[in-house]
Amino acid sequence: PSERHIKATTLETGKVLDMIMMASNNYLGLTTHPDVKRKTIETIEKWGIGMAGPGTLNGNTVIHQEFESRLARFKHCEASMLFPSGYSANIGCITALLGKDDVFIGDELNHASLIDGARWSGARKLVFKHSDPADLERCLKEAAGMPGQKLVAVDGVYSMDGEIAPLRPVVDLCKKYGATLLVDDAHGSGALGATGRGSLEYCGVEGEVDIVMGTFSKAFGCFGGFIAGSNVMINWLRHFARSGMFTAAVSPMNVAACMASLEIIETQPELVQKLHKNGRYVRERLTKMGYEIGKHETAIIPIFVRDRNKAYGVVKEAYERGLFLSLIEYPAVAPGSERIRLTVMATHTQQDLETAMKMLEELGKKYGVLS
Ligand code: PMP
Repeated sequence: PSERHIKATTLETGKVLDMIMMASNNYLGLTTHPDVKRKTIETIEKWGIGMAGPGTLNGNTVIHQEFESRLARFKHCEASMLFPSGYSANIGCITALLGKDDVFIGDELNHASLIDGARWSGARKLVFKHSDPADLERCLKEAAGMPGQKLVAVDGVYSMDGEIAPLRPVVDLCKKYGATLLVDDAHGSGALGATGRGSLEYCGVEGEVDIVMGTFSKAFGCFGGFIAGSNVMINWLRHFARSGMFTAAVSPMNVAACMASLEIIETQPELVQKLHKNGRYVRERLTKMGYEIGKHETAIIPIFVRDRNKAYGVVKEAYERGLFLSLIEYPAVAPGSERIRLTVMATHTQQDLETAMKMLEELGKKYGVLS
């Protein structure tokens, strides 16, 4: 699993290596947390392993309902609905809310699930420059002359850049132009903000965003997704979000695992604080070494190399020496903006970070990446 230390096999030699994992979205280390495992096992004993059908036909359990209420509170919303994944949550939500007479307005770097949801809805699409409120306003003005509903969608945290969206101006602009706002907080939920409630907490806009989407495949350490919002909107999704209706309900064991993770996030703030501390430390060290990195305060630290061969050299040699990093290249990002994606976890020890930083200093020099 994506723990702070893993065993991985090299494709070339077939050798099994002990590695420090710095490429996982398991930000809090909850995939293997003993409380999460115990509560999941207890739930299997009680409820079995699956619902074997969609909630609309078979219903769900009291723990599904309890978890949806707790998630809604976590996100400062009235209600929430579970989906099998974050991807299907965005698709289901957007296609349920928009039709061909409506307008979708999205950031140019939005996650594929928002883009695909917009495509499948058939709505008219307007795209604004990345995290540029002035360009968003241009789109909102253009949309004001068009009929139908206007839905603005942004990522709370951009997964390849570790950047936080400028939610304050985005919220204000949506209010000014009467547009509905959807924030995809896949990488913020459980990781960002003083108590891990996400990008809305970080930006001070909790309770002001119409629709908040989240996933359990990152800080929650599991899988599944959700949409949170008003009672009326969630009720609508229960009847019209096809990716939630025409698919089996999330299993009770999955709900139990995610609820146990939520419990930990809410009651052990020191985990989120440790994640932030590790992030600050790594950003400081990499900057001092002369790496060009993303400056936002998230667990995702992009190291901009802008040269595919150099980035590959660093990632490959790090891998062989026991440090797992991700190489991000085309088509994930534009050619010429290749980068190494490093993610910190709350469970990384000071020793893990030291080992990784020393290695990156050597490799940065060797491959000519430091300025
Ligand atoms: N939105 C964003 C911003 C993501 O990074 C991801 C996962 N990569 C998703 C949505 C989809 O989430 P899931 O893995 O739960 O389908």
